[in-house]
Amino acid sequence: MNTHREYTYVGSQKISQLLFETSRRCLIAHADDILQWVRQTQQQIEGDHTITATFIINTDQQLWIADRRSEHVVCAIGQKVLSAGEITFDLVASPLSVVEITNQSTGYCPEPESWCAVADTLDRLGIPHSNGFTTEFLFRRCEVCGCTNIIKDSWFECAVCGSPLSSQWNYD
Ligand SMILES: [Zn+2]
Repeated sequence: MNTHREYTYVGSQKISQLLFETSRRCLIAHADDILQWVRQTQQQIEGDHTITATFIINTDQQLWIADRRSEHVVCAIGQKVLSAGEITFDLVASPLSVVEITNQSTGYCPEPESWCAVADTLDRLGIPHSNGFTTEFLFRRCEVCGCTNIIKDSWFECAVCGSPLSSQWNYD
């Protein structure tokens, strides 16, 4: 049973506008699908043989990736997600593995706790990974001006209007 929190798109732009873009997302059903995606989309591989992509985990616990310049909401075709962020694969590791992963998505603002859904999915695919997000982001909505803030140095104050921010995740 799926007990993970589902995140709805909370970004500023209308989904309908964003979804005009043709989504070139790719379902990862097997680790080899990542290499195929790299070839088919002619990704620029870094000198250390890594590639970074946008990722989402959908509510069926599937991993979908897209070019790192892609919006998460496009990668998710506007649907709810269990997590979203950036993922970096080491393409020459055997087996292919995740070397960096974050929950950086201002479109969905997933909590660090969404890692559980990511770990479950990567485990099922047999893709080795870290014990958590290698960089964690804390998102808070300003309840006064509506802006999304990324919390830095435990400073819970809106960068736009100076109002105090909730200590709790507050997009539901
Ligand atoms: Zn504010």
